[in-house]
Amino acid sequence: MKMSRLFLETLRDFPADAECTSHKFLVRAGYIRKLTNGIYNYLPLMWRVLKKVENITREEMDKAGAQEILMPFLQPKELWEESGRWGAYGKELMRVKDRHGKEMCLGPTHEEIVTFVAREGVRSYKQLPLNLYQIQSKFRDEIRPRFGLLRGREFIMKDAYSFDRDVAGMEKSYKIMADAYTRIFERCGLETKPVQSDSGAIGGNVSHEYMVITQTDSGEDNVFYCDDCDYAANSNHAISTLPEAVTTGERYKAEKVATPNTGSIKELAEFLKIPESIICKCLVYIADKEPVLVLIRGDKTVEETKLMNALGAKEEIRTASDAEIAELMDKHGFDARPGFIGPKGFDDVRIIADNTVKDLKNFVMAVNENDVHVVGANFGVDVDMPKEFADLRLVEAGEFCPQCGKPLKVTRGIEVGNIFQLGTKYSVPMGATFTDEDGSEKPFVMGCYGIGISRTAAAAVERHHDEHGIKWPIAIAPYHVTIIPVNIQDETQMKIAEEIYEKLQKEGIEVLIDDRDDRAGVKFKDADLIGIPLRITAGKTVQEGLVEYKVRETGEVTKKTPDEAVKTVVETVKAALNK
Ligand code: ATP
Ligand code: MG
Repeated sequence: MKMSRLFLETLRDFPADAECTSHKFLVRAGYIRKLTNGIYNYLPLMWRVLKKVENITREEMDKAGAQEILMPFLQPKELWEESGRWGAYGKELMRVKDRHGKEMCLGPTHEEIVTFVAREGVRSYKQLPLNLYQIQSKFRDEIRPRFGLLRGREFIMKDAYSFDRDVAGMEKSYKIMADAYTRIFERCGLETKPVQSDSGAIGGNVSHEYMVITQTDSGEDNVFYCDDCDYAANSNHAISTLPEAVTTGERYKAEKVATPNTGSIKELAEFLKIPESIICKCLVYIADKEPVLVLIRGDKTVEETKLMNALGAKEEIRTASDAEIAELMDKHGFDARPGFIGPKGFDDVRIIADNTVKDLKNFVMAVNENDVHVVGANFGVDVDMPKEFADLRLVEAGEFCPQCGKPLKVTRGIEVGNIFQLGTKYSVPMGATFTDEDGSEKPFVMGCYGIGISRTAAAAVERHHDEHGIKWPIAIAPYHVTIIPVNIQDETQMKIAEEIYEKLQKEGIEVLIDDRDDRAGVKFKDADLIGIPLRITAGKTVQEGLVEYKVRETGEVTKKTPDEAVKTVVETVKAALNK
């Protein structure tokens, strides 16, 4: 491709609204242009990258025995009502009405549709196992679309769905997909960590997220992992063991003490000169419109996804507003500010406690009186033992690995893929069944498997760049090599550059030639910004029969004859693609 003809405009500056590296570089280097919030045009270079990520994904899915189909973006509300998700999916679902007033949505994911496809098309166990996948745009009205392609409202996803006779079959299909995922990301030049995760709106029990580890601010999720074993989990799923709860061992008889102006745990601990870990923290949440009291050890934090799952909340979970708290207190005849709310006297309110609360002894708690706490409290004596316990705690680095007991570490990550064992979550409510060998009708046991194609491409930029621009891995670079004739008025330079261009194209290499009548500095700057992995420069040294060969990743520069340069490019690209 001749750069003079390429539809490309690089910018001098980063876009003002870009918060992360991939967003900044993809806009500045002319890969994407924003249409509106969270929605982008993919320009020629970007589209080439996306097609490469798609093709790697497609090849590995095909190899793993999955079959490609294409389902509609537009989905009827009725199917979403069958699965129960029309209400549950919430505001992220892009809902539209047709001219007859019939409600539909733009697919954020396709469980309902693919279950319909299997319900219509699969009759017998003999047709199983089956894995259907597609690659297409998805729509989610994200509350905070940001980070360019990392979190868009329209984005490209590969989604696959497996259908099996039984749980053992589903587990086998899941393993096949897990292995395919590792290969897909490896081939894209991305090291990923599969981590245990929460199943969220998709449903099911077992699920893993494939995380690209990045310390940059674009990593939205915390991943807890162990260096000594293979344990790794997302913050909404991670568990850990703690050192013993700290107890005072002093006051065995509870007494009320004045604690003026100690609205926060920190202030309370400082005032009483006690560790935060002997405070029983009491928080007011609203779960699906109902107030809930949540108890947790004072030095720990509630993980809201865990809380939502433990409560079985369907729609939302959030901390109560001051007004809601005041109303709750009023209703129970108390007059206490946040910070002084305790678990006593709320007989008709659901109370759930984190497991850390079980071990508390002689603890400090609020008792619904302003500027007062009880110290030396014990369950069964001063307050009833909560009826419901669950793991609600956000894990922190340094706590112990649940598998091997070594300290856990934490890092930031970007979720590029997600696989789920769905079981019969969709097939049962939607009545999607097959006839088994013994003649009985059984629901499909399903799995679902997503990869964010556009997010993967952006994650690759997060991982591979320097201050000058992108450093694409060869397998997903828009072009493998760029040739720069330094001065296009110089006939020898142009002739050699064009000969190399022809030869490389014949070898099946994807080549750019920068034949723009621009200063050398501009061309070099653009080359670094755009991030083509290999570069050949035909400059003054062509007089001695030499060109310059540069590797973007390492910055290494060597002088070669044109034929040597061609040979090196061909070998390097072939080696990278055959990995
Ligand atoms: P997240 O937690 O980041 O919102 P998710 O868990 O809701 O994502 P899934 O339903 O698991 O997403 O979708 C499968 C894959 O699609 C994700 O692993 C991710 O790579 C990609 N993806 C999801 N939402 C977006 C988005 N808004 N923009 C770009 N890619 C996305
Ligand atoms: Mg996910």
